[in-house]
Amino acid sequence: MAGLYIHIPFCRKACFYCNFHFSVNQQGLSDMLEGILLEAEAEADVWSAQEFSSLYLGGGTPSLIPPDVLSQFLDAIRSRLNFAAQGEFTLEANPDDVTKELASAWLASGINRISLGIQSFSEEELRWMNRAHTAEQSEAALNTLLDSGIHSVNVDLIYGSPLLSDRAWTDSLRRVFHSGADHLSAYALTLETETPYKKLVQQGKYPAPDEDLQARQFDILMAEAAAAGWEHYEISNLCKPGFRARHNSAYWYHLPYLGLGPSAHSYDGRRRMWNVADNKLYMEQARQGVWSRMDEVLDLPTRLNELVMTRIRLAEGLVLEEAEQLQPGFSARHNTELQAFQQRGWAVLEGGAFRLTAQGRHFADAVAAALMQVEEG
Ligand code: SF4
Repeated sequence: MAGLYIHIPFCRKACFYCNFHFSVNQQGLSDMLEGILLEAEAEADVWSAQEFSSLYLGGGTPSLIPPDVLSQFLDAIRSRLNFAAQGEFTLEANPDDVTKELASAWLASGINRISLGIQSFSEEELRWMNRAHTAEQSEAALNTLLDSGIHSVNVDLIYGSPLLSDRAWTDSLRRVFHSGADHLSAYALTLETETPYKKLVQQGKYPAPDEDLQARQFDILMAEAAAAGWEHYEISNLCKPGFRARHNSAYWYHLPYLGLGPSAHSYDGRRRMWNVADNKLYMEQARQGVWSRMDEVLDLPTRLNELVMTRIRLAEGLVLEEAEQLQPGFSARHNTELQAFQQRGWAVLEGGAFRLTAQGRHFADAVAAALMQVEEG
């Protein structure tokens, strides 16, 4: 089983915190889709033995693609790669694009999951982040999707911004948990490099995220999820039981995935490859039929570190036997840290898995760093 990620690198506006690869000039959209199909064709032989159980159209803003063009594009992708009969087909949508007609067209073209980038239900906060949509559009889009008959709806929210009160965060969470949506991705606002937000903070014009506020709002997230009966299965991901995101889970469990489009990453079980993060260069490669990807063979220490980093964030935790397979003696070598984190109340060791407690989830990065192999030299 494998996953397919397709990166659509166009957005209507630049959200001030975002460091993904995208352009706000949408003129090249149809050429880009042609280019991505050429890349799919070039990869078809290499991936012919794989069955894809998920497709994720991300970006950027894939909901900008006109519905008839999207339908033809997906047909063409399906004709080049093998998909499982009951695959998960996700499209990322922004609220300002969602209409009843578009939702029906997405369903008809085989999309069965929408990830809706709401981010906030507050008008003031949306403007502050330079989002393209209004709070009213967030509400309307969510209702339209839930009425559309689409199988699964994820909502993206951001917490920990200086404009978000604990009360407003609690209300937003309750709104999502009781809306009929079945999945929530909740991210703390971060200062990413080369973003307008970072620049504004450096210039003293905007406040940086406050760590205490973020920690408090993460506690609210955990409490509200538990009260609603949702499963907090990964630090930033929660769902109704039975609605875990299949595509993202493939990343966390290190299954192979193919990434198409500029900046997209692929992993074949041994090597990670990534495309140029530049629309013009990507299209030149497509025209010439010469795909030049950066790549890195994942050696054992890197695989171990990635296992630790991803599994520590999951509710299942890090299965020590899996770490032992990559590095015999892992548990003995890290015995001091494993004990110390349990004594501090940050983790438990149960059934051979080292799992973070609610308190420990605040320190996931520090715990992972302590268990990772440090390069010598
Ligand atoms: S819509 Fe998404 S990808 Fe585009 S700028 Fe905003 S956060 Fe980034």
